Amino acid sequence: MPVFDSRNRQGLISPDEGTWQRRRRRPRTKKSYQEDTTIRPSKLAVRLPISIKNLSAAMKIKSSQLISVLFKQGITLTLNDYLEDETTVQLLGHEFTCEIVIDTTEQDRIQITDKLLEQEIKDTDDEKLAIRPPVVTFMGHVDHGKTSLIDAIRKSNRVASEAGDITQHIGAFQCVTSHGPITVLDTPGHEAFSAMRSRGANVTDIVVLVVAGDEGIKDQTVEALKQAKEAKVTLIVAINKSDKENFDTDPIYRGLSDHELIPEQWGGNTIMVNCSAKTGEGLPELLELIALQSEILELKANADFRARGTVLESQVHKGLGNVATLLIQNGTLNVGDAVVFDHYYAKIKTLINDVGQRVQHAGPSTPIEITGMSGLPEAGHEFIVVRTEKEAKQISEMRILEFKAGISDHRRTKQKDQFLENDQVVVNRKSLTLILRADVQGSLEALKQSLLKIETQKIELNIISSSVGEVTESDIQLAKTSNATIIGFHTRIESHAEELMKNMNVAIMMPKVIYEAVDTVKELMVNSLDKVTQEKDKGKLEVKAVFKASRIGRIAGCVVQNASIHRNHKARVIRDGETIWSGNISSLKREKEDVKEVKKGMECGVVLEKFTDIEVGDIIQSFEVTYHEQTL
Ligand code: GDP
Repeated sequence: MPVFDSRNRQGLISPDEGTWQRRRRRPRTKKSYQEDTTIRPSKLAVRLPISIKNLSAAMKIKSSQLISVLFKQGITLTLNDYLEDETTVQLLGHEFTCEIVIDTTEQDRIQITDKLLEQEIKDTDDEKLAIRPPVVTFMGHVDHGKTSLIDAIRKSNRVASEAGDITQHIGAFQCVTSHGPITVLDTPGHEAFSAMRSRGANVTDIVVLVVAGDEGIKDQTVEALKQAKEAKVTLIVAINKSDKENFDTDPIYRGLSDHELIPEQWGGNTIMVNCSAKTGEGLPELLELIALQSEILELKANADFRARGTVLESQVHKGLGNVATLLIQNGTLNVGDAVVFDHYYAKIKTLINDVGQRVQHAGPSTPIEITGMSGLPEAGHEFIVVRTEKEAKQISEMRILEFKAGISDHRRTKQKDQFLENDQVVVNRKSLTLILRADVQGSLEALKQSLLKIETQKIELNIISSSVGEVTESDIQLAKTSNATIIGFHTRIESHAEELMKNMNVAIMMPKVIYEAVDTVKELMVNSLDKVTQEKDKGKLEVKAVFKASRIGRIAGCVVQNASIHRNHKARVIRDGETIWSGNISSLKREKEDVKEVKKGMECGVVLEKFTDIEVGDIIQSFEVTYHEQTL
């Protein structure tokens, strides 16, 4: 019987001691695995966008499992990120044997209608449709007279409307012609036009291209006609300033023909009319021609339908709160209607027409000012009437949620872009911080669009705040803390904010036209870029001897081999082909005399600032440094 002592227990006994005994195996107990008893859905309907967190909860699996599947697909997301893409969500379902269908009922509800405005009108029974007035935009080169023409038309028609002075700012008006009314958009300029178009809003039926008859075709004339062509709108050319002596249509006809706009006068089909905003000559003709063109276009809408259209501009009004000018493009808008904008809603409190009168209804092609909105909708966004205020509110809230999901998505792509940029070693990109203020939403948008179009890889525009209204004290505080420049466009600085502006030394620019704003910002951008230094080699010297002087250190006795050395030059020391030092020259002497310049072939003594290591055989290359402004 083997002896069992403590050594056995510690395994110290060797087998040859004969006491080795096979350890009895413990009977294996069955490992108790925790059974996953979760019952997962095999079918699921989800709404998009959906966060990883919510999707995992619906699928009854851990978020980390979803994240890891996505990671393997090359998509890096976290718990609170949203998935927007149908295929990705279905792929995740497939991985966990769950069939996912996308529930679009809510999306349909948010969208209100899947028909575009044009389609909606097209699908309406013919007998319900009636002719509507054309909507006209004036475009053309700066100073060619767009604003003057709009003003002249407005004034000449004011008599017709007998409404007296119009003091309020409304972004459009209607004028009367013998062929019926015309709606004129009071936002001259292509920027506003393209800002609207970039949001998919096609509010214009006819573009009046204004060309000054004394100046001819300019850059923005060409730009405007290209935009009009792209938007496929009818174009009428108004050759303005016919009262001027050097008014000449021939160069304009020729110039426009180069762009495939052949004047009727030359047998083509582009209408061109001479006019003067100053004398009023040609204006009735212009309006008649617009009205006639619109007859050809057969513009129609259904006035017996719920209203739908586009926001022309919006602003905060001191007494009235949020105010917007809308262009009704189909249907009729009534006081009390519930309206959904992009992210806001309204129960229409008041409707004010273009001549400042309160009205109860407004039909197709009418510009109308409304109050009663939950927020300030942006120019170019669509509005649409729904059944109840409650529904309008719910839809706008859902849209905000969706928008936020979009933002997180946007942020992600932005981060990704930054990664890319870093890979390409575009680190430390400079940025110019701006705060934008404008009188109305329309001009704010136009300004923003134009500024964001400034193209450069060297500096980034960072607009930290943009809103409608005066430049306030808090804007100045914000500008100070964020080192931003304020751009106030068609607006004022609050009277008591001026002092703060001076005390805080905050830069505020108040451009009058967009192009001026763009130029100002470009200049600011250029100024924020570091200047580029350029070194230009001058004299080349060889060190022939080195002398020690107790007070000044080492003096290099040199011969100028090339060009000349100047006391104000900088210097490089080159030893065995390598630059070993670079800095200032502290003294330049010829035979103990301080000199300004030493020319080729001459000997001189050079002391280099804080460099004592000079040796015989070194080369001293003097050079000049110039600083250049960078271009964008
Ligand atoms: P916009 O930049 O195209 O809106 O141009 P404006 O309407 O501001 O006009 C620019 C300048 O041209 C102003 O000084 C106007 O007074 C002047 N102007 C506009 N139309 C006429 C015109 O028909 N005749 C003359 N003589 N001057 C005009």
